[in-house]
Amino acid sequence: NKFEQLGLNEQLLKAIHDMGFESPSEVQEKAIPVLLSQETDIVALAQTGTGKTAAFGFPMIQKIDTKSKTTQGLILSPTRELCLQIAHELKQYSKYYPSLNVTAIYGGASIIEQANQVKRGSQIVVATPGRMKDMISRKMVNISKIQYCVLDEADEMLNMGFYEDIKDILSHTPKEKSTWLFSATMPKEVSNIAKKFMNQPHEITV
Ligand code: AMP
Repeated sequence: NKFEQLGLNEQLLKAIHDMGFESPSEVQEKAIPVLLSQETDIVALAQTGTGKTAAFGFPMIQKIDTKSKTTQGLILSPTRELCLQIAHELKQYSKYYPSLNVTAIYGGASIIEQANQVKRGSQIVVATPGRMKDMISRKMVNISKIQYCVLDEADEMLNMGFYEDIKDILSHTPKEKSTWLFSATMPKEVSNIAKKFMNQPHEITV
């Protein structure tokens, strides 16, 4: 199987080639064509290391309008390390998108600096729930135009007690958007989130 068969455009295929990825992983093969061709919610059961960052990252990068500076994609992730890692990956994936900006937002670092970075125009924000909620309440970030929202490692975020923060953050996003949930396990708490915040999600298991 080939990346060329998934519907990805030239800029992404070139970046994929530069990174040395030879063929898509299972979650990429299952998620990318669906996310590129439909505006749909998905629930994907996938562990870390399966290539899930690219499974949501490639379609998000391809679908975002880079002529606009508005924040269109939001990725919530449980820890600072994961946020930085995802932002780093997305920057590599989008190396042939010179006007696409990705900003990581997380606790334990200067909130002012992160706010300034967002203000310069970040189409994609990767955030931990606590810091995100804080920045929303201080009007340092506006997510009212989000079109794609990823809940990454949803089981971990719930284990860490982020349910209320996630709920609060989602209440600031438009109703018309696609929500893409990724989780290594599917306990009741995660399927409840899917039921409450998602609309007939397409299910993917790897
Ligand atoms: P993830 O599961 O998203 O944390 O990805 C794990 C690692 O695999 C990351 O370092 C990616 O850069 C790498 N990776 C993702 N997709 C592929 C692929 N199709 N082929 C080779 N490496 C990949």
